Amino acid sequence: MPTVYFVVPCYNEEEVLPETIKRLTIKLAKLIKTGKASVDSRMIFVDDGSKDKTWEIIEQFHQENRFVGGVKLSRNRGHQNALLAGLMTAKKHCDCAISLDADLQDDIEVIDQFIDKYNEGCEVVYGVRSNREKDTAFKRGTAQGYYKFMAMLGVDIVYNHADYRLMGKRALDALAEYKEVNLFLRGIVPLIGYKSDYVYYERNERFAGESKYPLKKMIKFAVDGITSFSVKPLKIISNIGIIMCLLSVIFFIYAIISFFSGSSVAGWASIMCSIWFLGGLQMLCIGIVGTYVGKIYSEVKQRPRFTVDKTIINTESKKE
Ligand code: UDP
Ligand code: MG
Repeated sequence: MPTVYFVVPCYNEEEVLPETIKRLTIKLAKLIKTGKASVDSRMIFVDDGSKDKTWEIIEQFHQENRFVGGVKLSRNRGHQNALLAGLMTAKKHCDCAISLDADLQDDIEVIDQFIDKYNEGCEVVYGVRSNREKDTAFKRGTAQGYYKFMAMLGVDIVYNHADYRLMGKRALDALAEYKEVNLFLRGIVPLIGYKSDYVYYERNERFAGESKYPLKKMIKFAVDGITSFSVKPLKIISNIGIIMCLLSVIFFIYAIISFFSGSSVAGWASIMCSIWFLGGLQMLCIGIVGTYVGKIYSEVKQRPRFTVDKTIINTESKKE
């Protein structure tokens, strides 16, 4: 049976933490009792530079409850980085790690299914929301529009999956190879590969406290996701440039006709033609520069070029 680690990033979560720790302890105890998780299983709470009593609470629970562990970041680095810090700590001790939010909006009862899939050989199990009725209309609309937009840009992300997922040790080792600073785990994990599966669950409301993702952070996160995984916006610039150049030809013909039919003011035709043509040319040039910038960007990220799943080589030399 696997050693399972729960990884929970926490930012100013003093209102929910005691209850969350209580519920997760019960869950973990049940998993151990039913033989789904080993006795070495733990939960790690990552304090993402909270300004309230979050760390004190984690320390206090750690003293009375051997299942509770903590990692304290030196300052607020954001949800994704806090999560990565937790996963990289868990990786040293666990067979698989499950990441979840401190507010327990994600139904912890499906953890059993996560572990079942892991036992069936999945390295990654994605938690997918079966509905979003409990989200505000705004959050639901923007989030779903975003997933569709990302798919359009050619980014491989799992629809309606947030960061509730199980990752096996091999997947975690592969994740450690991704050195990029602008982290967008939802985009990286599908890149890792290995056998994966989905588990569906209903998302609840936050039981206390308020969202630590204000609009500003949400927008930054969304833009990060796009710009870290897609260079299509740069290609769009080149395409607009080409279209404008083509349009300038049509305009050129139109201007010449107007000029000869005498229906235009002197100088108008030549000015209009140059504006369109030069505009298009400039766009195209920016697009070309952008293509190189895009290449530099993907080189700089130094992502691993492959992750090996299995190797079968017979290295013994034949003695006959
Ligand atoms: N979080 C974090 N650092 C931050 C912001 C959020 O570690 O800078 C954590 C937060 O404590 C929670 C998780 O990220 O465990 C998700 O945040 P929240 O529930 O507020 O987001 P929402 O569910 O509203 O999208
Ligand atoms: Mg939440």
